[in-house]
Amino acid sequence: MPKTLEERIVRAVDRQRLTDTALALIEVPSPTRSAGEAADRLAAMLAADGFSVQRQDADWAQAPVVAASLETGRPGPTLQFDGHLDTVHLPFVPPRLENGIIYGSSAADMKGGIAASLEALRILRTLDALPAGRVLFTAHDHHEGPWGDGRQVRAMIREGIVGDAVLLPEYLSETLPVAGRGVAIFKVTIRREGVPVHEVLRPPGLPDVVGAGALLVTRLHTWHEQLKRNSHPHAGSDSAFVGSVRTGEIYNQSPTECVVEGTRRWTTPGSGAAVKDEFEQILADLASETGTEFELEFVEQGEAYRIDPDGPFVHAFQQAYTAVSGSPLPVGAKPFVDDGNIYASVAGIPALTHGPAATGAHTLNEAVPVEELLRVASLYALTAVEFCGGA
Ligand SMILES: [Zn+2]
Repeated sequence: MPKTLEERIVRAVDRQRLTDTALALIEVPSPTRSAGEAADRLAAMLAADGFSVQRQDADWAQAPVVAASLETGRPGPTLQFDGHLDTVHLPFVPPRLENGIIYGSSAADMKGGIAASLEALRILRTLDALPAGRVLFTAHDHHEGPWGDGRQVRAMIREGIVGDAVLLPEYLSETLPVAGRGVAIFKVTIRREGVPVHEVLRPPGLPDVVGAGALLVTRLHTWHEQLKRNSHPHAGSDSAFVGSVRTGEIYNQSPTECVVEGTRRWTTPGSGAAVKDEFEQILADLASETGTEFELEFVEQGEAYRIDPDGPFVHAFQQAYTAVSGSPLPVGAKPFVDDGNIYASVAGIPALTHGPAATGAHTLNEAVPVEELLRVASLYALTAVEFCGGA
């Protein structure tokens, strides 16, 4: 890439415009499943910039997805910038700018990042910098669990609103995640027939749901010790974790129900269904041992994935990152599951999560430095030039 283009891109980022965009998006509350107004605001901004905007329900008519693209008309790959407009269900904190830092609900997760990727789209168009292919900008609802279930991203993929590679400006900046674990949240409800009864009045052989719950926790701990040997250098290792056990009313009453909840994470791509089968087998064995009934809710939040660390997309990103920051970004793990897991596992495209060094996601103290948004805008624009130009 000619040096001058890098410099022109970095110089073209408009600090005021980018800050205003972030504040305007944060200003509209958008709890998951109610991001329609924020999507309308974003669509209006894109339209005001002269982009032609497509709105599509994508399985959630309350907040149709926002899509806009920058076309060169020359053959080449499509790079997608994708973000979720929805936020976790916490009290709304209005936006404010203080000493170069933007605060407010979703500043970190992830309207700051969305604003930065929109700024990248604008400067690519102003500079006519994209050599070939196109950039597809998308934003949607239904991300944050447990309220959202990723249905809009799945629908976007089904309906072809998807690129050949995708950048997700979530708040992850220290490492470049080229692998991610799959995760499911489980809830096991153990039941026996009958009603709660005094300890000394129990009929002989009455099944014990507390004992069955204890056995389940022990078995999951033993399973975890085996699972953790299954590891991947970047994704981490398999795990089974119990975070909550609820049962019983008082010390001398035999209850009828015990609920055990936790997570199961795995590193092997595409193994979500097999993981669930194995879990069900453990429960079936325990049910017959204890005479209790086991019911399993097993909600897959995201599938495990790996992307080629030597492929053209990672190469394009690292070229751009080096141009902006001086050296490549170390490859590492992604601590959370995001829409990148869906893009990689369902659409089969490389997905890279990289955004501003922002803090306070899922709290009332979200913050993102404006400098970081400027960096991400330049980086995204340069990555598009590298990837779509195939240099
Ligand atoms: Zn997020």
